[in-house]
Amino acid sequence: MRIFADKIYKPVIDGFNHLLWPSVCLNCSQRTAEADKFLCRDCWDGLSESLGGDYCPTCGRDATRYGLVNNRCPNCINEQFHFDGIARAGIYTSPIREMILAFKLSDKTELDIIFSLLANSALPSVEFFDSIDYFVPVPVHWTTRIVRGYNHTQLIAKKIEHPTAKINTDLVKIRQTKDQTLLASPKKRAANVRDAFAVRDGHDFAGKKICLIDDIKTSGATINECAKTLKQAGAKKIYAFVLSSASRNL
Ligand SMILES: [Zn+2]
Ligand SMILES: [Zn+2]
Repeated sequence: MRIFADKIYKPVIDGFNHLLWPSVCLNCSQRTAEADKFLCRDCWDGLSESLGGDYCPTCGRDATRYGLVNNRCPNCINEQFHFDGIARAGIYTSPIREMILAFKLSDKTELDIIFSLLANSALPSVEFFDSIDYFVPVPVHWTTRIVRGYNHTQLIAKKIEHPTAKINTDLVKIRQTKDQTLLASPKKRAANVRDAFAVRDGHDFAGKKICLIDDIKTSGATINECAKTLKQAGAKKIYAFVLSSASRNL
């Protein structure tokens, strides 16, 4: 009876529902084919093109495994980071770019289902995954949170599956900064976020291994500044997971 229900009855009901309430793509609002979930075929294809690919485990830029020396690519071989490694789901290109912007700026929080799929596919195979004690969403200033109604990185963090690690929000942003994407040079980006973060009194970061969660990594200045603050608070290791990273040398 159960086999009948699963194999025949459910597809019939699903098909009937699709006729009554045709699904639309969460990204572009086109009608989706019956077999596609959440996104239309074009958006799934575009998304899969931006995923995967070898990247540098230190800076997150595109890099081949064979071009790494001590886990560093030619782009970051002489850079200093406060974080100890990075993982990414994809590169910052269409349609992931539009989805992140809509998620962050236009209340399209239902896209968290897509980011959940991306994060839970990319993260578990990363070397540092098992050692994480806390996921720490990169914070926004409280005024941004009030205007927006949520911190988008916290929504992403909530969707990450991990057997033991918890979300910790004791890293806070203590002053507003300019939009990093509007600043042209890595120097300006670093100056923009310098000393913009702090930890709450009574935090539990000492000795912990932490994975910062952010949507985009461009020059890495924000993640680096967060990592610096957490290390000053006694954290042992800082890693980062981003949905997307600029592949160019930013
Ligand atoms: Zn679409
Ligand atoms: Zn690198």
